[in-house]
Amino acid sequence: MKETKVTMDKIVNLCKTRGLIFPGSDIYGGMGNTWDYGPVGVELKNNIKRAWWKRFVQESPNTYGVDAAILMNPRVWDASGHTQNFSDPKMDCKACKQRFRADNLIEDHSKGKVSAEAMTTEEMETYINENKIKCPHCGNFNWTNVRQFKLMFETSRGTVDGEKDVVYLRPETAQGEYVNFLNVQRSMRAKVPFAIAQIGKAFRNEITPGNFIFRTIEFEQMELQNFCKEDTALDLYEGFKEKAKKFLLDLNFNPEHLRFHDHEKLAHYAKAACDIQFFSPLGWEELNGIHHRSTWDLSRHQEYSGKSMLYTDPVTNEKYLPNVIEYSIGADRLTLAVLTEAYDEEPLENGETRVVMHFHPALAPFKVAVLPLQKNLSEKAREVYALLSKEFMCDYDEAGSIGKRYRREDEIGTPFCVTIDFDTLEDNTVTIRDRDSMEQIRLPIDKLKDYVAEKIKFN
Ligand code: ATP
Repeated sequence: MKETKVTMDKIVNLCKTRGLIFPGSDIYGGMGNTWDYGPVGVELKNNIKRAWWKRFVQESPNTYGVDAAILMNPRVWDASGHTQNFSDPKMDCKACKQRFRADNLIEDHSKGKVSAEAMTTEEMETYINENKIKCPHCGNFNWTNVRQFKLMFETSRGTVDGEKDVVYLRPETAQGEYVNFLNVQRSMRAKVPFAIAQIGKAFRNEITPGNFIFRTIEFEQMELQNFCKEDTALDLYEGFKEKAKKFLLDLNFNPEHLRFHDHEKLAHYAKAACDIQFFSPLGWEELNGIHHRSTWDLSRHQEYSGKSMLYTDPVTNEKYLPNVIEYSIGADRLTLAVLTEAYDEEPLENGETRVVMHFHPALAPFKVAVLPLQKNLSEKAREVYALLSKEFMCDYDEAGSIGKRYRREDEIGTPFCVTIDFDTLEDNTVTIRDRDSMEQIRLPIDKLKDYVAEKIKFN
């Protein structure tokens, strides 16, 4: 097990210098809570999404993918309750003008012993005043009242000049699955229980300082809604907790860095809710949520759209609204968790330290780096690169000593480095070095593809 203490600064620095993630609009001084994925980061995130889709759609029977529109009829957000209720309780420090979430102030002050989840605005104010909670930024105790800030981004759609309708950037992907429940069920002749899955962008006007990609205003969710009969819902919920955790363990998460957090306070319609938390440089934080939502979502859409959302059992002809078990995980938050899990600093025999990202090979941005030992071997090296890049994302590097090039590949977690030397010209063999063990073996070029393909599988 790794000994390295991972800090957010180390991760942010590595991400910026090694082409993983840059501050959004960087040359303009950035924009709070926005980040851009660079050439290496986009590969990592795409591989995470691919692994998720493989596990939860491709290999999961009766699961159907969709890609719904970001802009939806605004009535959707009335039905979901977002137009009325989706806001954060904020207060400003009058001394330093910083803005904080009142619930976070309470939970941080009580070291997580007090939950502000179900507190009213007045109860939060009273708690903060009675406990004289000070501003975490400047230390003063000089607060405004708690005010509710709407989290949905609004934009407008103009049909006639001067007349504009408000539309929202979706704050969650889930509604795209609910509104398509019957479209998917009928077109795919799906029988309950079945699930609709989606990966897509969501937007929330989060004012809280972001902590890198943990909390951003634009992010991607990977989630699915399971539609089932009421008497099977609880078992499905429990099963999904395990399935969600197994996915993370199979991506090489340390079991000690994951835990279930069952919610004590539930929304009035919910029957059960649980987060999987991961041990991040910020402490224990939510990575994904699993919720038993009863028939709430479908019944609300039935009410607001005026369309029946009833499912007819093809055997018994029974008509009913299915229950929903929701599973949702942020692709960006998972990327952060994968980065912090993978990061390590290892002492080497020569007294130096190597930074190495122990990504699961299926997630690694590049699977192979092709490295000619000397520049005059580059023709052969280019040939090997062309062969391998038909199958995998590969890197090519001929600048600097071989040791430095290995270090660069370790820092972005490339599982295999293939070195081309003078023997390669004679016998068509290469040296292949393993990122984790640093062991090297000799292989014929025509065996490389199969060798790598076998090692990078995600099952
Ligand atoms: P949090 O309590 O952290 O605000 P949430 O309970 O509001 O999260 P959900 O609405 O259940 O989150 O969203 C499901 C998942 O989407 C979360 O578990 C998280 O991984 C991700 N997520 C939610 N909000 C953000 C955000 N602002 N930035 C990045 N990822 C997010």
